Amino acid sequence: MIPDWAEERRKMVEAQLIGRGIRDARVLAAMREIPREDFVPPEARVTACGDAPIGIGWGQTISQPYMTALMAECLELSGSERVLEVGAGSGYAAAVLGAIAREVIAIEIVPELAAAASMNLRRTGRARNVRVVDGDGGWGYPAGAPYDAISVAAGAPDVPFSLLDQLGDPGILVIPVGPRDDQELRVARKRGGRIEWRVATLCRFVPLRGGEGWR
Ligand code: SAH
Repeated sequence: MIPDWAEERRKMVEAQLIGRGIRDARVLAAMREIPREDFVPPEARVTACGDAPIGIGWGQTISQPYMTALMAECLELSGSERVLEVGAGSGYAAAVLGAIAREVIAIEIVPELAAAASMNLRRTGRARNVRVVDGDGGWGYPAGAPYDAISVAAGAPDVPFSLLDQLGDPGILVIPVGPRDDQELRVARKRGGRIEWRVATLCRFVPLRGGEGWR
């Protein structure tokens, strides 16, 4: 039987997101609407709305729905923002961000995943304001800076300076930082030339690679 995907997503949002305290109505609406099932490999489609990350090839994963929602909520997007996502992966989080911001640039270090993300976004009609670029996002993407918001979807040993530098003022950055398999999701708010930090949750992301990442 073919699942009723709209219903699967509605249940996912209800149980996994609202049930755990996600309150941003725009994030919740985006995650009800974006077809997550179209961003996972065909063989994983039946588990697309499950409460877990899913392998997307090249040792990478599409994050657990809750983590995507929490990161998006941390960015406090109202619809006018320009956003940088580091680690496009499947393109799913970029699609969610694209639904609640003005423009998204998503950078991906694995060329095959960048191509797949791009295709997923086009196929689902989400490419209008979301662009995928190939490259090492540990250095940010200076050509598009400054950004009102930056979301990093891979665990970094430290906060890359380039990302703080390319964050606008005001601006919000969300990034998992810490040892390889045990990080804090840190949120930086830049305002009036100062940066305030808080920790949103503990988490476990795939490692950030490249010049500012794990070698
Ligand atoms: N946001 C993605 C989740 C991706 S997992 C989604 O919704 O599907 C993290 C991704 O970060 C992986 O695809 C990995 O290849 C990528 N990545 C790791 N280091 C990177 C770097 N330095 N620059 C850009 N992408 C990177």
